[in-house]
This record gives sequence, C-alpha cells and structure tokens, in this order.
Amino acid sequence: MTELISKLELKKVNQAVQKMQQLAQKIDIFCSALLFQAQRRIHYVFNKREIYTSIKKRKGNCLRCGRCCHASLKCQHLEYDENGLSLCKVYDRKPTMCSLYPYNENDYFYHIKPACGYNYDT
Ligand code: SF4
Ligand code: SF4
Repeated sequence: MTELISKLELKKVNQAVQKMQQLAQKIDIFCSALLFQAQRRIHYVFNKREIYTSIKKRKGNCLRCGRCCHASLKCQHLEYDENGLSLCKVYDRKPTMCSLYPYNENDYFYHIKPACGYNYDT
C-alpha cells in the first residue's frame, strides 16, 4: 500500500515537473521572440543597404502559415481564411519589417524557422 502511494506521488511530481518544463519553454520562446523582434528592428535602422541586398537572395515562398505573425504576441491584424491560411488585414500597408521577414539566413525566429517557406543558401 505504501509502495502504491509512493508511486502515485512520484507520478504527480513527474507531471508537475513536466508542466513546469513546458511553461519554462513557452516563456523562453516568448522572451527570445520579443528580443529578436527588437534586435531585427535595430539592425534594420543601421543596416538598410545590407538588408535590401541580402533579401534579394531569399528563395522560396511564403506558405501563409502565419507563424511569424504570432511568434511572440499575436498581431492584431492577423486573420485566417476558410482554408486556414493566414491573411494580413493590412497587407497593402503592412510594416516594412513584416515584408522583410526573413531578410537573411539568420533572420528567423528560431522556433519556427523549419516551418517557413523562405530559405537562403548557406
Ligand atoms: S513563417 Fe514564413 S511561411 Fe509562415 S507566414 Fe511567415 S514568412 Fe510566411
Ligand atoms: S501586420 Fe500583417 S504581416 Fe505584419 S505581423 Fe501583422 S498580420 Fe503579419
């Protein structure tokens, strides 16, 4: 009986640890995405020429997954159509930094890079 109680308690502890790890991972992704958004804006201000040169090497297409539009907080202009494809409500006047994602091989939110339809030869 005591052994059974110990096993149940151990299971609960493991579940709690797992939940804490998942929460820590979400916080880590959120904070690094926010930091990355700030960094790429600062980089843009000081390196426009380099950015407009490097983006010419961008290959592939946007798959309209919408992941980059809610990499940290979900953008207020993001919607999805009936097929689950992302729609930007301000597409014709969307911010420059949106049009420039990703502007080089390092300009990816790390947690969504594999899913993006754009790529660069490295
Ligand atoms: S993550 Fe890449 S493929 Fe998805 S919406 Fe953004 S640019 Fe397009
Ligand atoms: S403005 Fe449009 S492209 Fe930019 S993050 Fe929002 S929904 Fe995405």
